Amino acid sequence: MTHSPAAAISIRNLVKRYAPTGSGEGKLALKGVSFDVPQGQIFGLLGPNGAGKSTLINILAGMVRKSEGEVSIWGFDIDRDRRNASRAIGIVPQEIVFDPFFTPIEVLENTAGLYGIPKDQRISEQLLADVHLSDKAQAYARALSGGMKRRLLVAKAMVHQPPVLVLDEPTAGVDVELRRQLWELVKRLNDEGVTVVLTTHYLEEAEQLCDRIAIINHGEMIANKPTREMVDMAREKIVVLTLDKPVQSLPSHPAFIKSVATGASQIEITYNKDRTNAGEVMGQVQAQGMTILDVTTREADLEDVFVRLTTEV
Ligand code: ADP
Ligand code: MG
Repeated sequence: MTHSPAAAISIRNLVKRYAPTGSGEGKLALKGVSFDVPQGQIFGLLGPNGAGKSTLINILAGMVRKSEGEVSIWGFDIDRDRRNASRAIGIVPQEIVFDPFFTPIEVLENTAGLYGIPKDQRISEQLLADVHLSDKAQAYARALSGGMKRRLLVAKAMVHQPPVLVLDEPTAGVDVELRRQLWELVKRLNDEGVTVVLTTHYLEEAEQLCDRIAIINHGEMIANKPTREMVDMAREKIVVLTLDKPVQSLPSHPAFIKSVATGASQIEITYNKDRTNAGEVMGQVQAQGMTILDVTTREADLEDVFVRLTTEV
């Protein structure tokens, strides 16, 4: 596409209220989310189960209707210009759904037909090669492994060569080898200029793949930063202390972020390394009448930040 918008995706005050059903009550799945996905990036949308990630993706895909707010894809408003918005995005859904009687090549050709792409402009064979499925071109979809199906879904999402590719939990429940393959595929597409958005609840994946990470929890965005800065938020350090006897009461001090018992006579103290240091922390613990037998320290990682951000209220 020649058109070049400020952001690949722009979302403002997005609200989704699922209507109550017979069995369940209505659910406020998105509570006014705003963010931009910069062009050319791999953008990670991270959050625990039920956070609202798929709801957001399905709104982009046109499969769920938003309640309030504005969304544009590649500069096209999804209400006013749904057709162009849809043409600008390819979506790999969380659930694998295929007609079991079509072969991979037919799946891609049928999708190209739906987009009205003339036969001589289709790239089905190329796409199958890109996802290493050329040798399965004529196999029935039902005979493909889970991993092959997922790769076929990526090819299907790229049939109309959109500038934006969105993958909803591409590596949930897949084995290490397939995860690596999918990462490579995502990186290659991104190198070729495709803006990628992926949702995941694996931190390691977001940390390794993404240029930018947004964390969503209970329908609210709680952080949105370049990956480097998100990792730097881990300005925390943790000391693990083994005491000479079972922990009676946990030590406390204004400089401690958190203090928890992790064993009968073991405690973990989290502190901000800009405010204090391990020596001072140990001094405080000893001043509170405890004897330290052993000590180890570790840096907080993204996992710790994520846990803290999603459990703090
Ligand atoms: P995630 O993908 O982050 O796990 P979802 O977007 O699937 O989260 O779900 C967000 C919340 O909305 C959850 O509480 C979920 O139960 C609820 N939800 C999702 N789909 C529906 C639906 N079709 N009807 C009612 N509630 C839904
Ligand atoms: Mg989901």
